[in-house]
Amino acid sequence: THFGYETVTEAEKQQRVADVFSSVAESYDKMNDFMSLGIHRLWKDYFVSSLNPGATTPIGRPQIILDVAGGTGDIAFRLLQHSTTHNANPNIHITVSDINPDMLAVGKQRSLALPASHQSSLSFLEANAEMLPTQIKDNSLDLYTVSFGIRNFSNIPAALKEAHRVLKPGGVFACLEFSKVDKYPLFNAIYKRWSFSAIPLIGQLVAADRDSYQYLVESIERFPSQTAFRDMIVGAGFSVSGDGYEDLTGGIAAIHKGIKP
Ligand code: SAM
Repeated sequence: THFGYETVTEAEKQQRVADVFSSVAESYDKMNDFMSLGIHRLWKDYFVSSLNPGATTPIGRPQIILDVAGGTGDIAFRLLQHSTTHNANPNIHITVSDINPDMLAVGKQRSLALPASHQSSLSFLEANAEMLPTQIKDNSLDLYTVSFGIRNFSNIPAALKEAHRVLKPGGVFACLEFSKVDKYPLFNAIYKRWSFSAIPLIGQLVAADRDSYQYLVESIERFPSQTAFRDMIVGAGFSVSGDGYEDLTGGIAAIHKGIKP
């Protein structure tokens, strides 16, 4: 099945995304390694070190972070690791939120292998990024992260508005997402060929789930370019510095950041 978004409603898209991630939850971590040849780990490491969590602690309270579409915990665990090891600062709290309980369950299970002191800095929350629950208050976060999640949202502008609402003035919105390789036509051709033929095939062979991986490739294709997405972030009220984004691996992925004024 090819999922053509043109013809589906937001509710249908949300249901499809739910089905995809429920069916890939168990194989998700392994598949990421296969499909990206392990490179997603380097991108995530770079993303997290660029945010330097724990570098400064707000007086009298921990640094409050929300990892949206946090899935199986890759970003949250790295944020915690960086803060405690690199900055020797355990005074940090990260909520891993995701709309999908199956992905969160895998994340919770993985977190049990962390030291107890780390576990107490983590919470898990089932939440839709487009309509965050009331327990996440206006102007309450220091940092909002979303990694390989936002392209799956049915209503990206709504999610950006929510991000803006819950961040404090001075708080940072940070997104790691697949992007466009348009600047390098030859590399782009090779990359497209890899993603459109190899990824669904790997999905079929490794996870016996061609459709879900076909969806993932198509969702990357449909996601806006670096500059168009930057303009959406600005449109939600964030200020950006420079171009507002940084390409990784020629633009296969990109990091976008915005600050709530
Ligand atoms: N952040 C993790 C990472 O970098 O490995 C997981 C990314 S995974 C590709 C995408 C996640 O987005 C899935 O866990 C999915 O359930 C979640 N998701 C999709 N739509 C969402 C929404 N509207 N609100 C919150 N999470 C959503």
